[in-house]
Amino acid sequence: MDLKIIGAGDAFGSEGNLNTCFHLQHEHLQILIDCGATSLVGLKKNQIEPAEIDYILISHLHGDHFGGLPFFLLDLLRKNRKKTLTIIGPKGIEENTLALLELLYPGLQAYLDLSLIIFKTYQAHEELETEFFKLQAFPVVHSEESLPHGLKLFIDDKIIAFSGDTEWTDNLIELSKAADLFICECNFFEKRGKGHLNYKTILQHQEALECKHILLSHLGEEALNHLDLMTIPVAKDGMEITI
Ligand SMILES: [Zn+2]
Repeated sequence: MDLKIIGAGDAFGSEGNLNTCFHLQHEHLQILIDCGATSLVGLKKNQIEPAEIDYILISHLHGDHFGGLPFFLLDLLRKNRKKTLTIIGPKGIEENTLALLELLYPGLQAYLDLSLIIFKTYQAHEELETEFFKLQAFPVVHSEESLPHGLKLFIDDKIIAFSGDTEWTDNLIELSKAADLFICECNFFEKRGKGHLNYKTILQHQEALECKHILLSHLGEEALNHLDLMTIPVAKDGMEITI
């Protein structure tokens, strides 16, 4: 399966990087992991047709991770889409997405065929099974109000794990265990910031992370200024990875 990094940036657009959004394609199935505010632009830049996407998984309710949904839904309206889109996120994903849509495009909801848009809520530690994959969500340490989770996706014989936004928590060990790819946030290099990881902390815990590959994402300015000192691969917008 192929993973494309649509956006690997932080909330501030540091160095022009787009907000978090990863596109996974496995045969005909297309999944987005997070849909930050800039995602529609990123998808079009990469010639990915939003109307073809089957699932969108959301790690937490911050704009740089789910704020792209109204634009995504607006785009679907132009396409006369006939297939189902399933949006899976933490508690409140449906209410928050529709409220955001109403704020940004008042009245637009009436034109959406909501029977084709299914919202599902994951519960921490429980398995959510869909027709094509299994999903596990792990609580992580970030702004509590955003209901932050790390996501572990079991698809075919592969495992893809994503930390979401978080400080260090031992939940990352279970989350990344046996993953073919673990995408881990690395907002800082050595600076300490509430709700985020730094590179030094990831290095300290690297041995406990039993995954095949780690890819760092969500780098802020201070981390981007230390890229030359990092030995763990860093995600870049437009990067393609075969898993
Ligand atoms: Zn966040």
